[in-house]
Amino acid sequence: MPEATQPPVRPRLRVVLCAPRGFCAGVVRAIEVVERALQVYGPPVYVRHEIVHNRFVVEGLEAKGVVFVKELSEAPPGPHPVIFSAHGVAKAVPEEAKARNLLTIDATCPLVTKVHREAQAHHKRGRRIVLIGHAGHPETIGTMGQLPPGAVTLVGSVVDVGQLPDDGRPIAYVTQTTLSVDDTREVVEALKTRFPAVHAPPVDDICYATTNRQEAVKAAARQVEAVIVVGAANSSNSQRLREVAEREGSLAQLVADESGIDWTALEGLGSVAVTAGASAPEALVERILAALDARYEVALEILTTARESIAFPLPRALREAEASV
Ligand code: SF4
Repeated sequence: MPEATQPPVRPRLRVVLCAPRGFCAGVVRAIEVVERALQVYGPPVYVRHEIVHNRFVVEGLEAKGVVFVKELSEAPPGPHPVIFSAHGVAKAVPEEAKARNLLTIDATCPLVTKVHREAQAHHKRGRRIVLIGHAGHPETIGTMGQLPPGAVTLVGSVVDVGQLPDDGRPIAYVTQTTLSVDDTREVVEALKTRFPAVHAPPVDDICYATTNRQEAVKAAARQVEAVIVVGAANSSNSQRLREVAEREGSLAQLVADESGIDWTALEGLGSVAVTAGASAPEALVERILAALDARYEVALEILTTARESIAFPLPRALREAEASV
């Protein structure tokens, strides 16, 4: 009689799933804008830059007939619209679209638009504007591009604040929406020390989704040995989640999907938390959980640190187009 082979014993792993995680209201809206535009206008629909920073989302939309373009010049005039991404665009972009007679739909997140308006209001009042953010990110390019060149100075750190010239003009600050809450607090403190009369946003510019996801991962990281953040390498808020987890002493890895998991780093550990950046779909989280399940005897827990119920209406141009179909 051959000996019965026993299935290998899987090591036990406590998995703490952060809530909230993943898609925010701005991302849900941006994707819906593209899906609905496809229905109203038919493919192709053009989108300037990635609609949100996630290849999985982008490739899914490409399969439905969306054409992603780097610049407006790649989109032809005609009945098919060009959509601006959730990150927002500089004023010159809709101006160029108008000059070229392009049909446009703006999927900029309303919370990014709020920052644009704040910057414009400060400028009107003659204030010098400091934007706290990351150089080269589409959102900071869009926010700086709301005003003439030189009106906004970008700072990324306390050191940058120390190097700001003081020309005696009143000063105000706005921030990118997806920054680290803790790092930004330090930069704001440095600004307030150098410029005690600096004007602050009436409500924090770092958005509710960024704040909630960072709080959730912070709480989870304190309970586990490692954290897996699902998100794209070019997603600012996903990178911040990884940093927050690392600061809490966790081994953190940012992965685009389950194929990116560094299993060696998890060897011998008994607990891991899982979260996702605001542009990472839940389907990817499920794939991560399935990959963990295949290797471990998983005990799953959900850690809820906030409940979200925010939803944004679709852009008026799209609602009107839908109504006229
Ligand atoms: S992360 Fe915040 S600002 Fe960015 S799209 Fe989502 S809700 Fe809007």
